[in-house]
Amino acid sequence: MSRLGRAGVWMGLILSAAAVQAAERFPPPQFETDYQMPTLTTPLPRAAVWELADVAVLAAALGLASWLTLRKRSRRGIAVLSVFSLLYFGFWRKGCICSVGSLGNVVLSLFDSSYVLPLTVAAFFLLPILFTLFFGRVFCGSVCPLGAIQDWVVFRPLAVPAWLETTLRLGAWLYLAAAVLFAAVGAGLLICRYDPFIAFFRLGFNTPLWLLGLLFLAVGVFIARPYCRFVCPYGLLLRQAGRLAFWQVRITPDECIQCRLCEDACPFGAIQPPTAPWPESMRPVERRRLVFLFGLLFVLMGLGGWLGYRVHTGLAAGHPTVELARQVRLRQAGLMTEPTDTVRAFEVSGRTLRSLWAQEADVFQRFAWGGLWAGAFVGFVAGIKLIQISIHFKRTDYEADRAGCLACGRCFAFCPRHRIWETGKPTDSGETS
Ligand code: SF4
Ligand code: SF4
Repeated sequence: MSRLGRAGVWMGLILSAAAVQAAERFPPPQFETDYQMPTLTTPLPRAAVWELADVAVLAAALGLASWLTLRKRSRRGIAVLSVFSLLYFGFWRKGCICSVGSLGNVVLSLFDSSYVLPLTVAAFFLLPILFTLFFGRVFCGSVCPLGAIQDWVVFRPLAVPAWLETTLRLGAWLYLAAAVLFAAVGAGLLICRYDPFIAFFRLGFNTPLWLLGLLFLAVGVFIARPYCRFVCPYGLLLRQAGRLAFWQVRITPDECIQCRLCEDACPFGAIQPPTAPWPESMRPVERRRLVFLFGLLFVLMGLGGWLGYRVHTGLAAGHPTVELARQVRLRQAGLMTEPTDTVRAFEVSGRTLRSLWAQEADVFQRFAWGGLWAGAFVGFVAGIKLIQISIHFKRTDYEADRAGCLACGRCFAFCPRHRIWETGKPTDSGETS
C-alpha cells in the first residue's frame, strides 16, 4: 500500500476513534426517580469516517449523474441512480445529512459565531452547486432524495401555465427569505423542521409531517414535483447556478429539426419553444416598459421591506426566547397554573426577569431588521421577475430551460435525432443522421 493510502487508512481510524469517544464523553445520567429518557426523533450522530463516506458517495453520485445525463443521455440510468439516492440519502441516511437542509446550517454559521459549520455539511451544501455550475441541475435529476421521491409519482402531469408557474415560484422565494431570517436570528432551521418527506425517510410517527408529505405526493401525481418547483429554497440557488452552467442538458444530441415532438415531453414545463422575431416597431415600447419596470422594482422593494417590518412581531413569536417570555408573563398574570417545562427550567435557572425581557427585546429588534431586509429581498425578486418576463429572448430551437430543467432525461426519447444517435438507425419517418 502506498504511503498516501496508509495515511488515509490511519486518518480514517483516528477520526472514527475520536468520534466514538466523543459519543461516550457525556454518558446519559442515571435518574433515581421514574423519569424516562425521551425517545430520539433525530438520527444519532455518525462516526466521522461514515460522514466522509457520505461526502464521497455524494460526489460519486453527482459525477455519475453528470455522465449519465450529458454524455450517456440515459433516462434509464438516471432513474436507477435516483432510486439508489432515494434509498441511500433518504431511507438509509434518514434524510440527514441533506443538501437542501444544509442551507439553514450555512446561514446559521454566518450569523452565529459560536456555531461551527461541520465540514461535511459545507460539502453537502457546496458540491451540488459546484456540479450545477458545470453540468446543470444533475443533483435535482437523480441525486436529491426529495426530488427522487416525488419523481416516482409523476403519473399524470398537467401543464401549468407559465404565468402561474412564475407566480407560484414566488412562494419559494418567500420561504427562502423566511428560512434565512429564522436561521440568522437563531429561531430555528425551518427547512429541516418542515421537510415534508422526513417522516417517510425516518419512518417516524409525526402525523402532521406524514400528512404534509402525503399531500405533496398526491399533488405530485398531477403537478410534477411541486416541492421542487414551488417550495424548495435550495432549488432556487440551483436555478441560478443552472443559468450559468458551462454544459447543459440538451434535448437533442446534435441539431434541432423543429419537429415539435418534444414540445409536451417535459412534465415540469421546462422546454422552451423557438420565439418569433421581435418586430423593430416594438423596440421603443419595450424600452419604455423596461424603464417603468425598473421604477416599479424599487417600489416593490420598499413595499416588501415595509410589509416585512410590519409582520416582524408575528414572526418573532416563533423564536424560543419570545415564546418563553410569553409563557412567563402568563404565569405572572396567574393565567398559567401549571408551569410548562420551559417555564420551570427558567424558574430554577436563577436567571432574572430583567435579563429575559432584554433578550426578548433583542430578538424583536433582530426580527425587525431581518423582516425589513427579507421583505425588500422578496420585493426585489418580484421586480426582477417582471423585468425578466418583459424581455424578449431570441431562441431558434427547442431548448431545455437552463434554470428550470431538472435534468430528468425524459425528453430525450421524444427527439428523433436522439433515437438516431442512440441506435444509429433511421426513425420511422425515414430521418437519418
Ligand atoms: S429542487 Fe430542491 S428538493 Fe427538488 S431535487 Fe432540487 S434540491 Fe431537491
Ligand atoms: S431533461 Fe427534458 S424533460 Fe427533464 S426537466 Fe429537462 S427539459 Fe424537462
